[in-house]
Amino acid sequence: MIKISQTFAAALLAGAAMATPAHADDLAAAIHADMPGLMATYRDLHAHPELSFQEIKSAARMADAARKAGFEVTEKVGSTGVVAVMRNGPGPVVLIRADMDALPVVEQTGLAFASKERGTSTAGVESGIMHACGHDTHMTAWMEVAKLLGARKAQWSGTLVMIGQPAEETGAGARAMLADGLFTRFPKPDFALAFHDAAGFPAGRIGYTPGFALANVDSVDIDVKGVGGHGAYPQSTKDPIVLASAIVMRLQTLVSRENNPLEPAVVTVGSFHAGAKHNIIPDDARLQLTVRSYTDESRKHLLDGIRRIAAGEAMAAGMPDDRMPVVTVSDDFTPATFNTPDFSEDVAAYFRGRFGDARVNKVPPVMGGEDFGLFRKTSPDTIRSLIFWVGGVPQAEMDAGARSGKPMPSLHSPFWAPDAEAVIATGAEALSAEAMHLMPHG
Ligand SMILES: [Zn+2]
Ligand SMILES: [Zn+2]
Repeated sequence: MIKISQTFAAALLAGAAMATPAHADDLAAAIHADMPGLMATYRDLHAHPELSFQEIKSAARMADAARKAGFEVTEKVGSTGVVAVMRNGPGPVVLIRADMDALPVVEQTGLAFASKERGTSTAGVESGIMHACGHDTHMTAWMEVAKLLGARKAQWSGTLVMIGQPAEETGAGARAMLADGLFTRFPKPDFALAFHDAAGFPAGRIGYTPGFALANVDSVDIDVKGVGGHGAYPQSTKDPIVLASAIVMRLQTLVSRENNPLEPAVVTVGSFHAGAKHNIIPDDARLQLTVRSYTDESRKHLLDGIRRIAAGEAMAAGMPDDRMPVVTVSDDFTPATFNTPDFSEDVAAYFRGRFGDARVNKVPPVMGGEDFGLFRKTSPDTIRSLIFWVGGVPQAEMDAGARSGKPMPSLHSPFWAPDAEAVIATGAEALSAEAMHLMPHG
């Protein structure tokens, strides 16, 4: 569900060529040796993407990889979710998450292993399917992390909980796993880690944002009722198109005139449907909004304001009491992702030591959404959490983009084709190294 702004590029393009310092461990060498197999897995996952809550084959594959690595595996947690647990002596509980779902997008990358799959979403919409958000890189890296840590049990002590999460794109997957007992049937984490590929900066770079990193995401429907009739006799109707237009315009003042300019907020009307014919004033008009914020307070202010504006404009239009607009806020709310600030800086410091300063950069927050934040939100005082970015744009494309000034494909674009090898290698090394760092032996 994430869209990353190109402004990342500015922060991340600065800096010298990548220089990787030497490490005491052999993680990078092991990943390099496994890379042909990892790329085969990645290409197969990419060619066979699955929509939200339909991740049957992807989940089976991850479960199989975790079992082979020595984990105790439970499937079908929160519909299609996978939970793999490895208890390895005293120490903290570390959760590592990969999301598994793809998007209803017709792939146009032209890659030899491009997806030709089609499917029908749980909402009943038929379309092409594509891993346009890069969750195939996340799954592949996750399987490698399971293998690496399973083979290095003598080097760490603690409990590892690795989860394959369904339905990140609909904002419902983390909630489904929690509702199905993720933190009661399985060890509850002290630390939670994940990464996401990024379309705004070069392959293999790591970006992190302490504190709020991704936004609250609300979907709001407004059914604007009217009194329909003949287009030539407006005096005997209440026109819902004019009323809905007034609501759309007045909604623009929520962010520009009511919201504190220092508090990030977005109100976008993404869909406006009404009417069937030139000369008929319809009975209603339907608006669909996406609403983004960071804090609980600004979220409440925006949602209350939408209800107030819809009702106020209907009153101004003289709408009868029984034809007032109906405002519905979807239950599929994705809470803002908050990266525990001191923990984020600790992890970043460790990454800098490992990957070199030039590869690890603090980046600004974005208004995209991610349901990873929900895991921490269940126990914000005890769970320390970080989702970081791993750049996926091949360096040659980054350079060409900078020269031409043409916008490059974002996540969710039918053209998004990351440098998967760099993303998987960096993600797998970062996650496994940090997990071992958090669970030192002895
Ligand atoms: Zn996405
Ligand atoms: Zn995503």
